[in-house]
Amino acid sequence: MEPARPRAALVAALLRRGDGATAPLNARGRFDIWGHRFGILIMRLPFEQFPALSAIETCRHVFAQRIPGIDVSHDKAKVLERLNAAHQEIRNTAGLGHWPLFTAQQIHGNKIAVINSCSRSPMGREFPARDGIITNQRGVALGIYVADCCAVYIVDPKTPAIGLVHSGRKGTELGVVTNGITQMIDRFGSDPAEMIVQLSPCIRPPHYEVDFASEIIRQCRALGVQHIYDSGTCTACDLGRYYSYRSEKGKTGRMLAVLALR
Ligand SMILES: [Zn+2]
Repeated sequence: MEPARPRAALVAALLRRGDGATAPLNARGRFDIWGHRFGILIMRLPFEQFPALSAIETCRHVFAQRIPGIDVSHDKAKVLERLNAAHQEIRNTAGLGHWPLFTAQQIHGNKIAVINSCSRSPMGREFPARDGIITNQRGVALGIYVADCCAVYIVDPKTPAIGLVHSGRKGTELGVVTNGITQMIDRFGSDPAEMIVQLSPCIRPPHYEVDFASEIIRQCRALGVQHIYDSGTCTACDLGRYYSYRSEKGKTGRMLAVLALR
């Protein structure tokens, strides 16, 4: 059984916020309430992990889903602030909580940030004007927020090195995943044939007019990546589990993808 204390702490945090504190009970079962302890509800946090990445010993990852009971009808900064306690809790549960989190500003561009032995730091930060992050450093957590766009996890278990990229319609057109993989090759000596690529849930036809997930896969194959896994899930098809920017007309939350070398 997983430790009860952190979950209890999260529930307490939700209750303190006063923004829909009782909503976990209305969450269509996504918050799986499995018991009471110390007089407080204990519940399972909504996240998923991908079997292809779980099978890799050298990395840890998680994909935080929609968090029930949190009002997300605000701008992105406010929404991320409201989701932060739950995201921290999910990172803890996935064994990523004590590593510094590096994120990107995510401007739907194609530039990649690099964390190497010189640029790593004990404190996490957000890289301005970047849409992906690559590193060969252990104990450094990469984070990408999405709500319809695809979070693309790239793992080269041999070198080892990792990349995490935000690729929606525009970023895909600009080749942001191609840039991420190319920079892993150039800077770390990664071999695309050794890479494992995982696509997160993202919006897809018929809910969206462009199938950018297929294009991401095509770009990876063109670089010689052979091991490509797609969750195949459409975010707009399951609003109980995911946030969808398109379906919710921009007033929505963000899923958090995290990847790290252990
Ligand atoms: Zn759909």
